[in-house]
Amino acid sequence: MLGPPGAGKGTQAERFARTRGIPKISTGDILREAVQAGTEIGLRAKAIMDRGELVNDEVMIGIVKERLDRADAANGFVLDGFPRTVAQATALDAIMAVRDPLIVIDIVVPEAELVRRLATRLICDSCGANAPVGDGTTTCMRCGGRLVQRTDDNEAIVRERLKVYHRQSEPLVEYYRVRPTFRSIDGAQPPDQVAADLVAAIESTGAGAVTVGKPIGRSAKPGVQP
Ligand SMILES: [Zn+2]
Repeated sequence: MLGPPGAGKGTQAERFARTRGIPKISTGDILREAVQAGTEIGLRAKAIMDRGELVNDEVMIGIVKERLDRADAANGFVLDGFPRTVAQATALDAIMAVRDPLIVIDIVVPEAELVRRLATRLICDSCGANAPVGDGTTTCMRCGGRLVQRTDDNEAIVRERLKVYHRQSEPLVEYYRVRPTFRSIDGAQPPDQVAADLVAAIESTGAGAVTVGKPIGRSAKPGVQP
């Protein structure tokens, strides 16, 4: 699943994975898991992070491969936050060569809407979880902590983050766009509508309603193009 910060990608990925009974795999989570489990690749990642460096493509790919090989991902999975680069996407294709085709969903949200969302985003001051703005709650759903305004998310910083995202992700979107299993959906709608469009987009690839990860073919039905 692709999409800029503020597009609701993590929430939608989690929601979809839960309804299908498949794991949502985010690189942040699996990095933490691999480090905790003390696998060889996890230890390499820890050494890199302890030096204050970013985990490179090679290590990241190794960690993702290790995670996708686990039994719970055999019938499908949702990847959130990976791949981020064309190099990672190429490596993912190699991993997927013996599996069913990858379905790629790009959640598209106009920049003005992303800026509005990110600049007003609330964050838990104990666990760091993001919270949607507008439902009036000031208590974190995850840990019960206090929700506060994110101070680093002022407009200039938000715009810079989005610029960085687009610079990185545009080649990735171009890499995937030509595939019959690529769809983009409108992420500016209410979350329930985005979730419905996500399911429809995935099903329109021919993956069927049972599980994602079954053999899929070309579909005559076009994806939602913004
Ligand atoms: Zn919290």
